[in-house]
Amino acid sequence: MFSGEYYMKQALVEARKAFDKGEVPIGAVVVCAGRIIARAHNLTETLNDVTAHAEMQAITSAASMLGGKYLLDCTIYVTVEPCPMCAAALGWSQISRVVYGAGDEKRGYLKIAPQAFHPKTKIVSGLMAQEAAGLMKQFFQSKR
Ligand SMILES: [Zn+2]
Repeated sequence: MFSGEYYMKQALVEARKAFDKGEVPIGAVVVCAGRIIARAHNLTETLNDVTAHAEMQAITSAASMLGGKYLLDCTIYVTVEPCPMCAAALGWSQISRVVYGAGDEKRGYLKIAPQAFHPKTKIVSGLMAQEAAGLMKQFFQSKR
């Protein structure tokens, strides 16, 4: 029942929205029982808020949609490896599964906080990594 590519494509659509706004292009969707219950992209520039990462907003939006703070039986698809802040927030949410695309050696959670997720959370990495990484590369090249 795991057909992650469709959902990751939706996360990439979100990332592209961020890109078009001049935001670091990272997008996320939260899927619960096969349904997308939250879509979000990075908005740190728009909101003047360094915590406005795609995942943080997706968590808030999904919890509000579900009417409960825990995202049990949900999966988040995020285009780039979560940072330690988002990994910890996802840990608090007790989300069941985290699927991300491109790794982030500098700012990803694995370097600083590899234990940040809830112990029961399943992690899948590398799904459509090239697309996600390509968007990031394009963004940072355009900023130079
Ligand atoms: Zn983050």
